[in-house]
Amino acid sequence: MRKPKVLFAASEVYPFAKTGGLADVGYSLPKALSDDFDVTVVMPLYLTVDRRKFAIEGPTDYFDVMLGSERRTVSVYESRYEGRHYLFVYEPQLCDRDYLYGAPGEGYDDNAQRFGLFSYAVTELARRMQSDIVHLNDWQTALAALIIAEDETIRARTVYTIHNLAYQGDFPKGALTELGIDKRHFTLEGVEFYDRVNLMKAGIGFADAVTTVSPTYAEEILTHRFGCGLEGYLEKHRTRLSGIANGIDTEHFSPQTDESLLRPYKTPRGKLSNKKRYLAEAGLEDAGLPLFIFIGRFTWQKGIDILLEALPQMALMPCNIAILGEGEPQYHPRFEAVAAAHPNVHLFFGYDEGVAHRMYAAADFLLMPSLFEPCGLNQMIAAHYGAVPIVHAVGGLADTVAPIARLQESPAPCGIPFDDATPEALMAAVETALELHHDTKAWSRAATHNMNADVSWGQSAAAYAALYRKISGGAVK
Ligand code: ADP
Repeated sequence: MRKPKVLFAASEVYPFAKTGGLADVGYSLPKALSDDFDVTVVMPLYLTVDRRKFAIEGPTDYFDVMLGSERRTVSVYESRYEGRHYLFVYEPQLCDRDYLYGAPGEGYDDNAQRFGLFSYAVTELARRMQSDIVHLNDWQTALAALIIAEDETIRARTVYTIHNLAYQGDFPKGALTELGIDKRHFTLEGVEFYDRVNLMKAGIGFADAVTTVSPTYAEEILTHRFGCGLEGYLEKHRTRLSGIANGIDTEHFSPQTDESLLRPYKTPRGKLSNKKRYLAEAGLEDAGLPLFIFIGRFTWQKGIDILLEALPQMALMPCNIAILGEGEPQYHPRFEAVAAAHPNVHLFFGYDEGVAHRMYAAADFLLMPSLFEPCGLNQMIAAHYGAVPIVHAVGGLADTVAPIARLQESPAPCGIPFDDATPEALMAAVETALELHHDTKAWSRAATHNMNADVSWGQSAAAYAALYRKISGGAVK
């Protein structure tokens, strides 16, 4: 029997292009689904994608799409990276840029056109490939849900996954004509949002199923606090909305086989040699002290302001702190000021997978004070590497990190969740962490539990497979 065909469309996919967790999902979810489905992943062929390294060939196909009144020619490239099928869409306006979406903290002015074009290309590919399911992700591909719903010649069912409701693809209303969206959709029920065009609404309103990346976030986004203005619209479409927590790719993130590490390891004991090596690399001293790490985008969502307020006080404690990230420029000098005053604080500005992996291996604790977190991957990666996550208990962080007191009964990793998004609550959690670290046995029990906890894609992939079957009404077996 033929496997059902899934076209998985995302604006970034690891290892070709990545700015955040979406890229990780674009790599690992299709991989986890590939036993049961014939999955093709499609993304833009940005200038920054290394065609040679990933054996990307082509063009293997061309077609035209209409972007409003403009005809655009799209070329298609392909790769069989790690035995899976990847398609890359090339069109100069979409792809020939220094950044994927714009300089840090900014977006290119023509992003509506760029990703509108990508959405039309995805739709055309779904038609040509006769996909059974088109799985769309975030605002960059949301328009495809509307186009497919309107086009009777495409039989595919659509799933739309919200990875972060804060980024909605909100544009001036001129985008309507530029993207050739029928004016009758410029209503409250359609893509209109305060007299502007909101592409996220096309995904929520027109996909056959809408998911977000954790059960708690699926509930939270129905509230004023987390709904980013779309809570009412989401409430209206609630029956099609569900939450499926992400997993991590436990082959890629494996302390046992990780090539970035000095000594891969199987138990928390093996962390010490990695910690020593990392401390030397970072110019930090004393492997006996607990090492706290933060890895992530410097943006308000990640709780950077809380972290920055707590850092000077934290740095006075007996510990080391290492921070890896990049993002909004205003944060960089603030971090630098703390590091200049405290030799036990190390900064690494930039994006570096190798450094990130070595930090996970070295860390005793991960700091994740996010104000909101659709799912978050760092906490699962850190746990899998035997660190204990300290998290603000929201969204996916609440779903994937149980309090240490519940270690016995929890299949999820355990850590130190805190309830209030304040520097004081973070500091209280850090103090708990210091006590835990002092109690070597308790720390090692927690670290061992975390290394053995199931954070793989297994259960989540099964949930997506069930959803695909449900919306296809039995057409997908
Ligand atoms: P986001 O909101 O950015 O998608 P997630 O926690 O879902 O956050 O995913 C973040 C991913 O990006 C993780 O794989 C994390 O290790 C990685 N990451 C984030 N910042 C950096 C960085 N500066 N260098 C290396 N990896 C990073």
